[in-house]
Amino acid sequence: MADFDIPELKEFPEIPAIQEGVMAHSKPFVAKQEFQESLGFPGELVDNWEQVAIEKMGELKGKYRGFQVFLDSCVKCGACTDKCHYYLGTSDPKNMPVARQDLLRKVYRRNFTFAGKYFPKLVGAVDLTKEVLDDWYSYFHQCSQCRRCSVYCPYGIDTAEISMAAREIMDSVGVGQKYCNEIIAKVYKIGNNLGLPEPALKNTLEGLEEDIEEETGVTVRLPLDVKGAEVLVITPSADFFAEPHVDGLIGYAKVFHESGISWTLSSHASEAANFGMFIGSYENMREVSLRIREAALDLGVKRIIFGECGHAWRVAYSFLNTLAGPFDFLDPNYPVPMHIMEFTHDLIQRDALTLDKSANDDMVLTYHDSCNVARASRMGPMPGGQFILPREVIKASVNHFYDMPQDTIHEATYCCGGGGGLLTDDLMEIRVKGALPRMEALKHVVEEHGVTHMAAICAICKSQFAKVMPYYGFEMDSIVSVHQLVSNAIVLGNKQ
Ligand code: SF4
Ligand code: SF4
Repeated sequence: MADFDIPELKEFPEIPAIQEGVMAHSKPFVAKQEFQESLGFPGELVDNWEQVAIEKMGELKGKYRGFQVFLDSCVKCGACTDKCHYYLGTSDPKNMPVARQDLLRKVYRRNFTFAGKYFPKLVGAVDLTKEVLDDWYSYFHQCSQCRRCSVYCPYGIDTAEISMAAREIMDSVGVGQKYCNEIIAKVYKIGNNLGLPEPALKNTLEGLEEDIEEETGVTVRLPLDVKGAEVLVITPSADFFAEPHVDGLIGYAKVFHESGISWTLSSHASEAANFGMFIGSYENMREVSLRIREAALDLGVKRIIFGECGHAWRVAYSFLNTLAGPFDFLDPNYPVPMHIMEFTHDLIQRDALTLDKSANDDMVLTYHDSCNVARASRMGPMPGGQFILPREVIKASVNHFYDMPQDTIHEATYCCGGGGGLLTDDLMEIRVKGALPRMEALKHVVEEHGVTHMAAICAICKSQFAKVMPYYGFEMDSIVSVHQLVSNAIVLGNKQ
């Protein structure tokens, strides 16, 4: 099945003995010239790349205060060493967060600190060589920017920020990652990560409407580009065709149908994902975000609601106003942006939906907190709402729910293994190995409580689990969308 060893699922998590360099070979394909250039980067490695890279590092140090603080403040306490799923799954010591940071820190010290300039050996400072650049390319693409390590660091050092900066520096010298950069280029050209043009999107939505009517006997609309609708829904393009994502999209449509609130999707902003964040590029993140503003203005909507996508919600919740605001043309009574979970949860609280939990009685559920939702955003008015709301929506839709062990959920959640721009076949080994801690936690509730399915609210998590679960003996369809559960349970036409 695989040309690499699949880690064994243990009853209790084990910290592996280190094996130097076992993942040095894992590197994603490099982006082609045309895709580099369409994002504003050099097409290939520039001649004076060492100088360009150091200048870029200096620019980032001046621009992002946190970047410099993170590089200066590590005391090598070791608290983060066993917190990364990629270290736990691979045993490569360069996948320990502190060691990953040091790949960049040692070059920073050599160029930007007194001790590093004059006594490099004393402080572990090194010049930027091709060998170092190769190590960066390998190991900064073995970080899903999940921020788990930062939860355990007494100084709050965020390796994700360092990883983003490293990728930005690599892009600036002409060594970008194929998967991320091609996807961003596709968004610019066609409007979404999949490259799904407007006529195909329209056909897909009409097909889904027919499917729902056939199954339920009720006409439920999935409107596209409807001017004057109340709500614009921005959702990951995976929701338009992939399983189990599409079942979640059907769930949103049914919820809107029952709410009586008009809504629309947009062919111009047919993508919630924003891979600009993964490559650390403010400019690209902004350009992708601006499509949402343009669509909202063009369609004249009053509210913007995001579908089930983890990093899109982080970008929306944390940065959208800075990137594409102000959103003073929207209804001030609603937060900008809103998550579909907040919308559905609110309807449930107000008894505006009828949910028949027994429709999901063929499943015993658990819930995977997605990293960017858990550690980089919030939902609803209460602290921890990002953990509470999805679980309350699930529990309102199913009869059987059990959480995984506490040290693997909420802010301690483990990444699915495919986040941060790693969801590509050329990184299959690191994806499978990085999923190990989550698979062990899942095995625990399968054995303790007979759990059959795991729900998630992130398009990347869903795609990643559908692909890697079979490596660990689980069925690929045991990952489900939260709104798929709502969709199964909702009784249409019951509320006025
Ligand atoms: S951000 Fe996540 S993937 Fe990156 S080093 Fe920290 S724990 Fe590992
Ligand atoms: S926990 Fe923080 S301070 Fe300690 S080694 Fe890791 S990054 Fe450095």
